[in-house]
Amino acid sequence: MMERYDVTVVGGGIAGTTLAAILGGAGLKVALIERLAPSALEAPGYDGRTTAITFGSRRVLEGAGLWAPLAGHACPIADIRVADSASPLFLHFDSREVGDDPLGSIVENKLIRRALHARIAELDSVTQIAPATVSALESAGAVAQVTLADGRVVSSDLVVGADGRDSFIRQAAGIETVGWTYKQQAIVTIMGHERPHGNVAVENFLPAGPFASLPMIDTADGVHRSSIVWTETLENAPLYLKLTGDAFDAELQRRTGDWMGRVWEIGPRFSYPLQLRHAKRYVAPRVALIADAAHVIHPIAGQGLNLGMRDIALLAELLIGRRRAGLDLGDPMLLARYERERRVDNIAFSATTDILDRLFSNDIAPIRLARRAGLGAVNRVPPLRRFFMRRAMGAAGALSRLGRGEAI
Ligand SMILES: Cc1cc2nc3c(=O)[nH]c(=O)nc-3n(C[C@H](O)[C@H](O)[C@H](O)COP(=O)(O)OP(=O)(O)OC[C@H]3O[C@@H](n4cnc5c(N)ncnc54)[C@H](O)[C@@H]3O)c2cc1C
Repeated sequence: MMERYDVTVVGGGIAGTTLAAILGGAGLKVALIERLAPSALEAPGYDGRTTAITFGSRRVLEGAGLWAPLAGHACPIADIRVADSASPLFLHFDSREVGDDPLGSIVENKLIRRALHARIAELDSVTQIAPATVSALESAGAVAQVTLADGRVVSSDLVVGADGRDSFIRQAAGIETVGWTYKQQAIVTIMGHERPHGNVAVENFLPAGPFASLPMIDTADGVHRSSIVWTETLENAPLYLKLTGDAFDAELQRRTGDWMGRVWEIGPRFSYPLQLRHAKRYVAPRVALIADAAHVIHPIAGQGLNLGMRDIALLAELLIGRRRAGLDLGDPMLLARYERERRVDNIAFSATTDILDRLFSNDIAPIRLARRAGLGAVNRVPPLRRFFMRRAMGAAGALSRLGRGEAI
């Protein structure tokens, strides 16, 4: 049986579902194909991460009608403190220096997924095909076709690969990647604490890697919470992952310090391998890659999905404009423009996060002294501080219309 759509989105993670919701909301006929059932993606054991949603990504979600259901669960970040181990020098980003908006907001991934699934269920224009695995791609002709493992064929003007870091669509389209695996692993958990976080996010650069505590909304019974992204060496991560109860809490306390009082793990605990990977092309005939299918970066700055949101905003703007003009959505000129406009931003952030990790994840004395002086210097120069804040907020650089908060 053959089904025909404007766009097929392969991968119903946060990126693919957001794109499907935006396109579907604008009236495009979209097939959203995901290997797992929505209930499996929302289950507490599937994804324990939170996402630091920048101001720019929030605008994209607002434009797509997706922010309202999340707003009540989003904890605003008013300040970011960057520390280098025990050094007294630190960098302080204060949102009030750049306006009334927070620097970003922390939201649990499972809640983002839930809100996205609810939105997709409202949209007649989006057909969710899940659980279903795409096992073949044929995109050289006048239409693109994907074949599912159960033999169904879905055809459309364009296939979007939103199928994550090991993207099948990227490989089937013959697109190679460059990159490497970090000798680090991220330990992710939720931590309770005695005193409120005051909407402060802390990134403490330790020799094994950055240890971040990200402010979350209190639980219904008033427990203060922060999300932890603790980067450890591959050698030591398994040892820490085995610790339970007081022993693990003591390690959290050692890294957090005492500014939030006593801390303890609420959990659940997850671990993620870390890598940098970049697709050599983002497009192929009738194929476009977005988010982790195109670029995977170190979580040091909490920007991976935010870059993906910028891919989504631009691709959606181009596709919706073209559909309104009644033109082919697989047009090579459109795809070339998408790749050209997203590549520089994505490469710049990939390189920046890689350099930051290399610079800070070591205890080599001259490097340590230089980076501490650097942090202190940036902290003393308000225009530099504001420049970094605007970049981190996703509110600077070339932005698509959704990223500027305009309707499309
Ligand atoms: C520890 C950690 C912390 C992070 N924190 C942040 C943060 O604070 N802010 C931020 O912006 N980013 C952050 N990131 C990055 C962010 O999590 C990723 O960029 C994001 O999850 C990628 O989403 P995605 O939808 O592109 O990919 P995925 O979430 O991998 O989704 C891909 C989907 O495709 C499906 N799929 C795969 N193959 C097929 C197939 N053949 N057929 C059908 N379906 C298929 C999969 O089942 C999956 O659901 C963090 C990453 C890590 C590791």
